Amino acid sequence: MSDTNSKIDIRTFSKSELQTYFKSKNHPSYRADQVYQWLWNKGVSSFEEMTNLSLELRAFLQAHFEIRNVTNLHAQKSDDGTLKNAVKLHDELVVESVLIPTEKRTTACVSSQVGCSLDCKFCATAQLKRMRNLNADEIFDQVKLIDRQSRTIYNRPLSNIVFMGMGEPLMNYNNVLKAIEIITSKEGLHMSPKRITLSTSGIPKLIKKLADDNAKINLALSLHSARQEVREQIMPFAKKFPIEDLIDALQYWYSQTKSRVTLEYLVWKGVNDTQADIKALLNFCKKTVCKVNIIEYNSIDDDKFQQADNATIEAYVRSLEAQKVTVTVRRSRGKDIDAACGQLANKSVNL
Ligand code: SAH
Repeated sequence: MSDTNSKIDIRTFSKSELQTYFKSKNHPSYRADQVYQWLWNKGVSSFEEMTNLSLELRAFLQAHFEIRNVTNLHAQKSDDGTLKNAVKLHDELVVESVLIPTEKRTTACVSSQVGCSLDCKFCATAQLKRMRNLNADEIFDQVKLIDRQSRTIYNRPLSNIVFMGMGEPLMNYNNVLKAIEIITSKEGLHMSPKRITLSTSGIPKLIKKLADDNAKINLALSLHSARQEVREQIMPFAKKFPIEDLIDALQYWYSQTKSRVTLEYLVWKGVNDTQADIKALLNFCKKTVCKVNIIEYNSIDDDKFQQADNATIEAYVRSLEAQKVTVTVRRSRGKDIDAACGQLANKSVNL
């Protein structure tokens, strides 16, 4: 094992764990607060930069710990301004994170796992096997990187975060929540949790846990079909999670948070383009407090799936509106550089 690998990643310590550690080494607890500030608020990448600590203490920290900052291998820019970052982790694995600009906002789309543990048939990330979960600091670093890019390019801070990059965030529950805690804390980026959206493919038990943990973030659910038999075909893991359990979890989510879930929905030819599919979605919406976001399908070099025609999308929109369900149709961003939803697969990087 190399010298670096035997050191502890200091950012795995919570603030109170750092305080306890400093106390055990006979340092006052405010030293821990200073270090915490340097790590999360100022985002330094070395102990040398912690200039309000004594040289001796800096050397001590250097000998025992490391700061495992990520590095941005390269950023690829789309014609529409979307920027895709290839982010290298300390063990050489790479994840992708995307900066999505609109006129007033900058949104960061971040990854929660290297690869993905699920098997959605239409998603490029699913073709990579899950290598590992990201740590909270690795999630934080993606956000911090995009915040810096936004300040440099657009002269404004990052405004929103979506967990819609690689991975299933609820399958890395603790680290995702830890990262959100730091992002929203005063020492971190002090962002409102209302500006953060976690997108899940739908794990009922964990949706309920998220509601109980009172994270105050927005929830999006990748539904794509409200018919169990169809959903199982396109998202095979759904065999374990009947639609009724999802409805039950979303009802619980609303009762605890009073926050309306967004249902993400793709419409494909020959998969979910019939009246029966629309009816099933309407029925799902009747039972939950939700809005629907119809997303444009981004091809993943596979001709199994094709975006349904406009008339079908229109039929969905009209039926939902007739039932007073808010529905938006979202055009994809960053398609030309494979940075759009479901296209993140490290195509530009040799793993
Ligand atoms: N695992 C999480 C988050 C990552 S995917 C989830 O499933 O929600 C983010 C969104 O992109 C999901 O709604 C997902 O269903 C969608 N998506 C996946 N592949 C896509 C593709 N090829 N085109 C458009 N959207 C896709």
